[in-house]
Amino acid sequence: MRDLPIFVVMRDRPVIVVGGGLVAARRAEAALRAGGRVTVFAPALGDEFRALRDAPNFVWAAREAAGADFAPGSLAFIATDDDGLITRARAAAKAAGALVNVADRPALCDFLMPSIVDRSPLVIAVSTGGASPILGRMLKARLETLIPAAYGRLAGLVSGFRGRLAAAVPSQTQRRRFWETVLEGPIAEAALAGDEEAAKARLARAIDRWAADGAAPTGEVFLVGAGPGDPDLVTFRAFRLMQKADVVLFDRLIDDRIMTLVRREAERIYVGKEPDNHEVPQEEISALLVRLAQEGKRVLRLKAGDPFLFGRGGEEIETLAAHGIPFQVCPGVTAAVGASAYAGIPLTHRDHAQACVFVTGHGKEGRIDLDWKALIQPRQTVAVYMGLRRLEALTAAFIVHGAPRDMPAAIVDNATRANQRVVVATLATLAAEARAAGLKGPSIVIVGTVVALRDKLEWFAPAPAEPASRTAEP
Ligand code: SAH
Repeated sequence: MRDLPIFVVMRDRPVIVVGGGLVAARRAEAALRAGGRVTVFAPALGDEFRALRDAPNFVWAAREAAGADFAPGSLAFIATDDDGLITRARAAAKAAGALVNVADRPALCDFLMPSIVDRSPLVIAVSTGGASPILGRMLKARLETLIPAAYGRLAGLVSGFRGRLAAAVPSQTQRRRFWETVLEGPIAEAALAGDEEAAKARLARAIDRWAADGAAPTGEVFLVGAGPGDPDLVTFRAFRLMQKADVVLFDRLIDDRIMTLVRREAERIYVGKEPDNHEVPQEEISALLVRLAQEGKRVLRLKAGDPFLFGRGGEEIETLAAHGIPFQVCPGVTAAVGASAYAGIPLTHRDHAQACVFVTGHGKEGRIDLDWKALIQPRQTVAVYMGLRRLEALTAAFIVHGAPRDMPAAIVDNATRANQRVVVATLATLAAEARAAGLKGPSIVIVGTVVALRDKLEWFAPAPAEPASRTAEP
């Protein structure tokens, strides 16, 4: 971020506009609307000024602005094509301690004019840092359609009751919870629908109720699947819950780019598990969830993929239920499904497989304990989670139990992430090829003739997510 977005309090602040054309008129209008005292310096004023000329805070001077016209802390908008005039006006303004904006010349500006969505008191300003004002205006137009005009009314309603709530409910956490409840609920609906009197009456009652109840807020646990890595695969519901959390418990498979979607103020607790090295035992994680929720917090338990697929989500909610803690479960895109789409390997296909089985290759005490008879079936795809570490034993077991040595098999490493890698081979060769490629995991093994489709389909698979640094570039 090169420029710091701020909102300047206008309240009678002197504003000098140099120029009499359309852009000058727009600047003058915006400044007047925000409460500035505007003086326009131009030999003549264009039609666009017609509506402004009678405004009480508007003055026109038909001469060139000079040093004494600018005051320290005033804002100077220079909107003219005359280079000589720009240079003179800018020098005079800066010498007097004014902040200068020159239209269409970001390099000469002390501040930039954003595109504005005005839902006063709610105001959204969009800037492209001078890179592309047109893009800024396009985005503004999108936001205009997205944010109902009534949001301004809603903001006004909130601001009118803030003092009253603060007096009635001393706890800041409680107050935040209060506004979240209000802004997502029927009171906000009433305000948005234009029924302001009803909204006010209900808001007043709600404040009294919260003040009377005064009890500690009840905590809750959100068990949320964050998907396999690409932040675009986070569901809207997951995102909403991530934005509500007071504290988040996450593990090794949740990458930084997913964590940027979590509410910034939320406390972060790492409960990472390495394979075979359970840093925080499952019972302790479950106990921690209970304790945090009992403290009244909204606890986000963020899981890779889907919480109920090899995620031990079931165990966690058993403990929560036993302690009477309310919880919600939000599904996520599981790794095998993400890997399938991003590697171009369909898990089922009319000509290849009518079934797909998800299994874990991470058996108890190092044994791979699977129902091989059920797994090795014609027209069936097998997706193996946690299979990389014992890949040699895993593929050998497939063969020993009757799968053909040349059965197509693939491994998708870091599926959906920027560093996704895919190795396609056969059951006989997969382990050696995966080792040669130096795959580190997490990875999904896919066994079945569907793997052969990859050659045909790879081109249509979505590109793995770009790393954050790439997307941040212009
Ligand atoms: N609940 C998760 C699975 C957790 S078990 C889900 O639904 O996806 C951990 C295993 O998931 C890893 O060993 C690996 O097999 C798989 N996995 C998770 N993220 C992955 C990714 N981005 N690419 C490939 N495999 C992944």
